[in-house]
Amino acid sequence: MSSFSCPQYDDEHETCQRVGDLCVPGRPGCVLAKNSGFAVPWEQRLEAKRRERCEKEASDGKTRE
Ligand code: SF4
Repeated sequence: MSSFSCPQYDDEHETCQRVGDLCVPGRPGCVLAKNSGFAVPWEQRLEAKRRERCEKEASDGKTRE
């Protein structure tokens, strides 16, 4: 559970309206990029989210066939 709620987050598409891509707090363009620290670098978290999304889309595609 997160205690942070970002007004840039698009719940419907699960993306960031500010950067026009997946929400990864701390990534370039994010409101938290300059004043927050993260244990896992944003590049790793972005890669993990992209992989997760690809797997989900592949899974959704299989169930629709
Ligand atoms: S990437 Fe940053 S600015 Fe964009 S929705 Fe996520 S927390 Fe908000």
